[in-house]
Amino acid sequence: MRMHSCLHMLCVAVPAPVTGGSIRDGSGRLDFDLPNPPDKEDIEATLNRLVLEDHSMSLSWITDEEMAEQQELVRTMSVAPPTGSGRVRLVKFGIADLQPCGGTHVASTAEIGPVRVLSIKKKGKQNRRITVEFA
Ligand SMILES: [Zn+2]
Repeated sequence: MRMHSCLHMLCVAVPAPVTGGSIRDGSGRLDFDLPNPPDKEDIEATLNRLVLEDHSMSLSWITDEEMAEQQELVRTMSVAPPTGSGRVRLVKFGIADLQPCGGTHVASTAEIGPVRVLSIKKKGKQNRRITVEFA
């Protein structure tokens, strides 16, 4: 829950399409479609700033049709938004992040706590795998 929410923040810190990801105990990773290597310190500083800013989480629902008209909200290239039931759940973290998600989240970003960027690895031609963990 904390790490999943942290990956939402990673999406904010790295403005590029997400191509995959996973969560393990105490760490998580996202793969980004990113031709140039991003700056590790920059990402870490942005993540910790978003945590400190304590953005509250809130939920809202839109229809499948509204979702189809707002494809810019979808951050994942590999995972389709959870449509099909007629409505889609949007997860919002204050002014930091808004995206369709069916996962479980912290009530506000301060609950994530301090985080560290463990590694940025090149995976394929323009894929970068960014792994984060709790500091
Ligand atoms: Zn989520």
